[in-house]
Amino acid sequence: MSVHTKHITHWLNARFEGNKPDAEIDNVSIDSRSLQNNSGTLFFALAGQNRDGHQFIPALIEKGVQNFVVNHIPHGSEGKANFFIVPNTLTALQDFAINYRQLYNFPVIAVTGSNGKTIVKEWLNYLLSPDYNIIRSPKSYNSQVGVALSVIGINEHHDLGIFEAGISTVGEMEKLEPIIRPVIGILTHIGSAHDEGFESRDQKIAEKLKLFTHVKTLILQNNPQVIRLVPYGVHTFTWGFNDDNAVVSIHCKVISGSTQLTFNYRGTFTVNIPFTDDASVENAISCAMTMLSMDYSHETIAERISGLYSVELRLQVKTAINGCTLIDDSFNSDYQSLKIALDFLEQQKTHQEKTVILSDVFQSGFDTSVLYRKVAKLLSGHNISRVIGIGETISRELADFPNFYPYKDTREFLANFKPSGFNDQTILVKGARSFRFDEIVVLLEEKTHETVLEINLNAVVHNLNFYKSRLKAETKIMVMVKAFGYGAGSYEIAKTLSHEKVDYLGVAFADEGIDLRNAGISTPIIVMNPETTAFGAMIAYNLEPEIYSAKELRAFITLAQQKNLSNYPIHIKLDTGMHRLGFQENQLEELISLLRNNNFVEVRSIFSHLSAADSPQFEDFTLGQISKFDKWSGQITEALAINPIRHILNTSGIYHYPEAQYNMVRLGIGLYGVGNDAVEQKFLQNVGTLKTVILQIKQVPAGDSVGYGRRFMAKQPVSVATLPVGYADGIRRAWGNGRGYVTINGRKAPILGSICMDMLMADVTGIDCKEGDTAVIFGEGPTVHEMAKVLETIPYEILTSISQRVKRVFYKE
Ligand SMILES: *Cc1c(COP(=O)(O)O)cnc(C)c1O
Repeated sequence: MSVHTKHITHWLNARFEGNKPDAEIDNVSIDSRSLQNNSGTLFFALAGQNRDGHQFIPALIEKGVQNFVVNHIPHGSEGKANFFIVPNTLTALQDFAINYRQLYNFPVIAVTGSNGKTIVKEWLNYLLSPDYNIIRSPKSYNSQVGVALSVIGINEHHDLGIFEAGISTVGEMEKLEPIIRPVIGILTHIGSAHDEGFESRDQKIAEKLKLFTHVKTLILQNNPQVIRLVPYGVHTFTWGFNDDNAVVSIHCKVISGSTQLTFNYRGTFTVNIPFTDDASVENAISCAMTMLSMDYSHETIAERISGLYSVELRLQVKTAINGCTLIDDSFNSDYQSLKIALDFLEQQKTHQEKTVILSDVFQSGFDTSVLYRKVAKLLSGHNISRVIGIGETISRELADFPNFYPYKDTREFLANFKPSGFNDQTILVKGARSFRFDEIVVLLEEKTHETVLEINLNAVVHNLNFYKSRLKAETKIMVMVKAFGYGAGSYEIAKTLSHEKVDYLGVAFADEGIDLRNAGISTPIIVMNPETTAFGAMIAYNLEPEIYSAKELRAFITLAQQKNLSNYPIHIKLDTGMHRLGFQENQLEELISLLRNNNFVEVRSIFSHLSAADSPQFEDFTLGQISKFDKWSGQITEALAINPIRHILNTSGIYHYPEAQYNMVRLGIGLYGVGNDAVEQKFLQNVGTLKTVILQIKQVPAGDSVGYGRRFMAKQPVSVATLPVGYADGIRRAWGNGRGYVTINGRKAPILGSICMDMLMADVTGIDCKEGDTAVIFGEGPTVHEMAKVLETIPYEILTSISQRVKRVFYKE
């Protein structure tokens, strides 16, 4: 991007005041925390609910930002930068996007509807990426601000756009339409989401359809209730199930886990998709219709749509030899999934160096040299340090690629493999199944221990969304990743959460926050137990302290003053009944007087913690805590005339007392898949599965004993499986001696005798199993709930006790 100040003034219809009227900007920001803010940034000072972008301008000027869109120049900043003064900065951001969009004149697809927008966008990206350089909305950036920012991401390399738009009330789509200015429109499923923002379903549909006022083609299901609301003159391209009134009639047949769709349009053709649920079928149809409208051949459509499964593919992240991280994608190798894997690789910030091990790439419909030219372009766009090509075609076609190491086949690579060739880097292993890259994965994987805690990152996102769905859309979410993400691994969890745009992360100690910052996490982080000795480090790493006493506050202010800080964010903790940390009622006066007229720190939030939100019998007590919080926090905000975020709910609070959500909640255990009761549990997905393998199986005759102290005596002959996991891994000894069990091949195997330090023995009599088979210690069953009950403790303790020597393996689809 390169936009001259005079265009900006004109685009925004702004009044210009500044000392550098001849500047160029090359990026746009609304986030004062963004690391990308620099002298080429145009910063829009948006007024949010809790913060007003204007207040960050002095600090941004310090950092070198020189161009600001404002509705007034903050006091003291006059003459220090360029200001574009407008009545409304959000409207200005949208005007900027509208004008910027007009600089580019390539096809743009817009997707709206109640459900399926993001998946259709992602699938289309997958389906069309062999032929286009696509710009698409990141994640579900579909709001009034998100759409503008997505469009501003366009650059000269793109030749197709796919943007989604979401609205919650009338009048919103009119603003988004000129920003996106789509040529092809897709209306996905219309459901009840956001009904409350409209007078009627008709009004909602009509509002959504405004996105398509200027499209050449509108793709939608032939539904009379919707069709009659389509703006006059818009060309529709409709589909329907066995519907002769639709332009494309589709016959749908479910065959053992997949769906066969026969399209009737300029002849017939059949597409198989590996899904059977209605939503996926409709979304796949929207994609096929788009390809039809873009004149793709029936064969290409059928072939690419049948590959949709790879979008859902599990990309496994594993710890590998010599401090490396491995992304295992040894399943297939086509252009689209290569692009997805490279994007995923790029998000991994743990190591700077990146190696890709890639087999021959398969993609019908392309000339070999054209295909590999595209592959080379993709690779060079992703900052790969080294490419190892395995296969005759790739060896030949990429021969001139920088840092390229060719091997004729997997066997040749394996024969020459030296572990010392891989150090402290991320390795993507990507190959078609026939290349047997699983053998490469075996060599690269770290094999310290057969026991792993497998973490399902999709379940993490699912659980996050479940709690979100119980909150108002505008309520912020802080997620607790303390204690190594409740044992699940703080960095990977934090990365997933920052991707999901949670507002805050919570850690217990400063060093946990520092580790996250070093790993590239930029989400705001609150440190719950800040020790005075760590204040300096916290400031250096942009970590925000919980302040629970006047003494602590004084110490922090003194340091902030020494370091010349202004408005450093702090979080005030009130003790409303937990009696752990926090200000009590009689200390509020002192707190207020310390904060009054103090510009070194800024109260970013005020909060308290519930001590019994999960116990119905203490409901009165909890409501009492909430009302104290309400009163005391009100006293502070009034006395200081501030409007910080307020928050009191933890997981069980969110579930039982949503009316007390204020502006933020603090989600903990629920994210990790553990609910408070059986009903809540039903909505959650299991996140962690502790697994190991059977080392040995032996037959023990009646009368013999098993394990230390002969605590298990065989009354009849038993088959005993020995597993390499023990109390040093965090499995409590009390779980042995017939109280606990493991699951092997779907069957319960009771633990025999005492659990040893590094091993335990289980009864596999009558269970069909062999050495090397997997045993589940906890996960879907036994659940941590079940274990906690038997062990008379709480799931938190079970999760956080799993030793760090147990390898964490993360996967997501
Ligand atoms: C740990 C913690 C939470 C999260 O609690 P859960 O019960 O796991 O949801 C919230 N707030 C504070 C202050 C905490 O220490």
